[in-house]
Amino acid sequence: MTMYEIWDSIVAFYEPTLEIISLWAWGLPLFVSVLAVMFIISQKWQSPLTLRSLTNAAFPKEQYDNPSSRVDMWNGIILLMLGFPLVGVFAVNGIAIADNVGAYFTAEFGVRAPLMTSTWLIVSVQFLTYFLSVDFVGYWIHRWCHTNALMWHLHKPHHTAETLTPWTLFRQHPIEFFGLNIIPAVVGGAFTGVVLYATGSQIHPGMVVAVTTTAYICFFVIDVFSHVHLPISYGWMNRIVLAPVMHNLHHSMEPHHWDKNNAVVLTLWDWMFGTLYLPKKGESWRWGCNDEEYGANNPHNTLRGFYIDPFKTLWRHLKDGQSPNP
Ligand SMILES: [Zn+2]
Ligand SMILES: [Zn+2]
Repeated sequence: MTMYEIWDSIVAFYEPTLEIISLWAWGLPLFVSVLAVMFIISQKWQSPLTLRSLTNAAFPKEQYDNPSSRVDMWNGIILLMLGFPLVGVFAVNGIAIADNVGAYFTAEFGVRAPLMTSTWLIVSVQFLTYFLSVDFVGYWIHRWCHTNALMWHLHKPHHTAETLTPWTLFRQHPIEFFGLNIIPAVVGGAFTGVVLYATGSQIHPGMVVAVTTTAYICFFVIDVFSHVHLPISYGWMNRIVLAPVMHNLHHSMEPHHWDKNNAVVLTLWDWMFGTLYLPKKGESWRWGCNDEEYGANNPHNTLRGFYIDPFKTLWRHLKDGQSPNP
């Protein structure tokens, strides 16, 4: 391998990350403006309207200037640099898995007559099957992380966040990030493959465009916004799509809020399977895990603690049967 080829493969590896960063460069001013306007609407604006006051409203100092937030940001940068492209590759591979599973069934059991001829119908069925199954599996994995004591060790670092900023989206232990984010694409892809065979169709290019566009929208609008500090509500839509206020509540340390609102994108699953919690008017809560592991006692206040502590608690659990809290 020549130096040129090595350099080329490094560039190729980081291409998706650079794409995301360049999208951020375009999206950031828009994001700040939307956030500032939402702040004005939700809080009754007091300050004079300047660029500085808008930026302060969107990025308040107290949200960013604490150990919890610093861990979010550094871990986010490390994940982006080390392996974010891999997750992108796995997500796209979900479609490749669907293609292969469909081809496997066709080779095994013979070609089936196409059930649909309209392009719109084919693209819609394929897109909805993939999107809904990936999101459905995502919901159950997240729910499982809360209900299974062993899985909780890995997911707990996300919940020791004491403030929320868009960086908190990346507050995921690397094992959780790489290990669990792949599963929805694999399972959703395999299921889509079965549907492809059953309907006698093959992946349509329009479906790939629809999935990619939706993935960007879900990432930039739903997921990043779900970690802003403002309790923004989508009204009656809160039962369908994850609004910031719904995921805000998922980060609450009040015991009656634990294990609620597990949605990744669609809160519809929470509604259907009994884990939806619509915040009551004027209801407030603190972010974090519990009172014992808060502030100076937060085991994930440093990057070292954030990475190592889950292994320690998992080891104690396996050795002495000490279950993590909660
Ligand atoms: Zn959670
Ligand atoms: Zn979260």
